[in-house]
Amino acid sequence: MRRFRPPHPHVNQRIERPVTAPILSPELPDRIAPARARITAAWLRDETEAVLDLLDQAGLPDGEREQVVDRAAALVTRVRERAKDQSVVESFMRQYDLSSEEGVLLMCVAEALLRIPDTRTADMLIRDKLGDANWRKHLGRSESLLVNASTWGLLLTGRLVNLAESTRDDFTGALRRLVARIGEPTIRVAVRQAMRIMGHQFVMGRTIEEALDRSVKKENAAYRYSFDMLGEAALTAADAERYQQAYRDAIGALGRRGPFANHTDAPSISVKLSALFPRYEVAQRERARLSLTEKLLELAQLSMKAGIALSVDAEEADRLELSLDIIGDVFAHPSLAGWNGLGIVVQAYAKRTPLVIDWLVEMALMHDRRWYVRLVKGAYWDAEIKKAQEQGLSGYPVYTRKPNTDVSYLACARRLFAAGSHLIYPQFATHNAHTIAAVHHIAQGRPFGFQRLHGMGTDLYAEVIGPKQFDVPCRVYAPVGSHEDLLPYLVRRLLENGANTSFVNRVVDEATPARELVADPCETVRAFDSIPHPRIPLPANLYGELRKNSMGVNFANDNELSALAEAVNTHPGPWTAGPLCPERPARAPWSMSPTRPTAASAWAAT
Ligand SMILES: Cc1cc2nc3c(=O)[nH]c(=O)nc-3n(C[C@H](O)[C@H](O)[C@H](O)COP(=O)(O)OP(=O)(O)OC[C@H]3O[C@@H](n4cnc5c(N)ncnc54)[C@H](O)[C@@H]3O)c2cc1C
Repeated sequence: MRRFRPPHPHVNQRIERPVTAPILSPELPDRIAPARARITAAWLRDETEAVLDLLDQAGLPDGEREQVVDRAAALVTRVRERAKDQSVVESFMRQYDLSSEEGVLLMCVAEALLRIPDTRTADMLIRDKLGDANWRKHLGRSESLLVNASTWGLLLTGRLVNLAESTRDDFTGALRRLVARIGEPTIRVAVRQAMRIMGHQFVMGRTIEEALDRSVKKENAAYRYSFDMLGEAALTAADAERYQQAYRDAIGALGRRGPFANHTDAPSISVKLSALFPRYEVAQRERARLSLTEKLLELAQLSMKAGIALSVDAEEADRLELSLDIIGDVFAHPSLAGWNGLGIVVQAYAKRTPLVIDWLVEMALMHDRRWYVRLVKGAYWDAEIKKAQEQGLSGYPVYTRKPNTDVSYLACARRLFAAGSHLIYPQFATHNAHTIAAVHHIAQGRPFGFQRLHGMGTDLYAEVIGPKQFDVPCRVYAPVGSHEDLLPYLVRRLLENGANTSFVNRVVDEATPARELVADPCETVRAFDSIPHPRIPLPANLYGELRKNSMGVNFANDNELSALAEAVNTHPGPWTAGPLCPERPARAPWSMSPTRPTAASAWAAT
């Protein structure tokens, strides 16, 4: 009998081999395999259970907790002093963040204009879209983010856009009046100019040479740098090759500025796997793993030769395990013997992260190599929540309350230090004063580095890196590229700056007392009635009393795929399919042979 086999979700295909166990990395040695399997099992772990575990690991004794809060509050006070003479761009961004209607207008138009190569078409677009009297009827139906301006605002800020009452009622009218008053060419030029200004805020240079030159000027020289070539989500093989070449060139340029005493002091490179392969997705696991391992290995070998470190950025949750397999293959590669420069980014908002750290430790022990690990909180929170709801999963891969993520960050920091600096050199990427003070306290003099993003956290780190201050080195993540490639990165930064839960957003609000801003997250979480966010129901309960959300299969999780395969393979048939809505029984279910299961029939059988 022909059998259904995961992990390929092409369930319509006839496949010869039956499945008995998860396929992922079957070649893993005994020592690594259990650590790897624990990561898969923890995907949608119960949030309360996970956070209670972390609380025990993250908490500090009373006296020490107060000490950390005092130090963090002092940082906030000094940052607020400095913020009084912030740059024009910073004031502009704070004045017109994406919760303002001007900010949203700007991004809508910018998003569209960046795609249009000639000025005539750009002007036509402005006239057509901004002046479209029927704009409203397209809302929610069009692919264009410009048309879906409200959705765009929600996406960008993580909350509903606070448009003025009059504009909210007549958004189209407001856009039309704007165009009529100042004309399309003016809007086009102004938007491109604004993008350039924002680009300058967040991008270190248009080319790697320009970025390197800027990195040694004036106060920039106090930092180390990790350069990132802007661009992600390559859509074609040509895109991917262009990004690969950009990374090759950048590594070459960094190497020419050497020799460097060691990787920790040298500039480094940060790489996004999504930029290097157009089908970086679980459905294409074998192709993606093969191609990306080869590409990443080439960049790692070049970095080794250049005497610098290379770090792989963390992206979406459904790519995590595939990324670990690729990075793990490269880490273990014999051609990199003697090089301790491979780095990986882990996200504290993800429930699997403590287990990822355990896996990293096992890998380091087994191959007798060291990792650079950058701990971040995670930049894709809104998307992760939305995706899990859309797919009707049984839980979320990320925490639903920000203090839960903060607790996880501190627990993960402890885990990284506990591994020892011969296995892991930890780097803490944060713009949050409490997180900085707490990590510094947890370190107890052990070696580590802080990291910040170019264009963010400048005032804060000016108070951290000096010898009379925390005296810990800081590396700046410095994007390089043109403003055309900036948008996805810019959106994440504007989200971060605009979100009202975000430290960088709250620190400039003098109305929030410093000590409240830097409250100990463990104490905050302990005081919660409910550890998961009470207003973010599990994906299955999204529609409350109305109905259950439709169930989905998480194709990126081997355990779920195996369960699905098991159900399909053991079902004797016949297969029937029909609507599963309550009170609407299928009137005429259709049947089929068990030898050719489809996604719909397989699911109905489970
Ligand atoms: C050098 C550097 C490199 C980076 N590289 C990466 C990378 O490779 N991949 C990546 O994903 N990010 C990356 N980031 C971005 C990073 O994730 C964000 O900058 C970071 O989350 C902000 O954390 P914070 O401590 O500065 O701010 P805080 O304001 O303390 O924390 C904000 C974070 O809390 C989390 N959060 C917010 N609301 C909730 C909620 N309701 N429930 C649960 N959690 C919530 C989110 O992660 C959010 O970003 C990088 C950042 C830096 C500085």
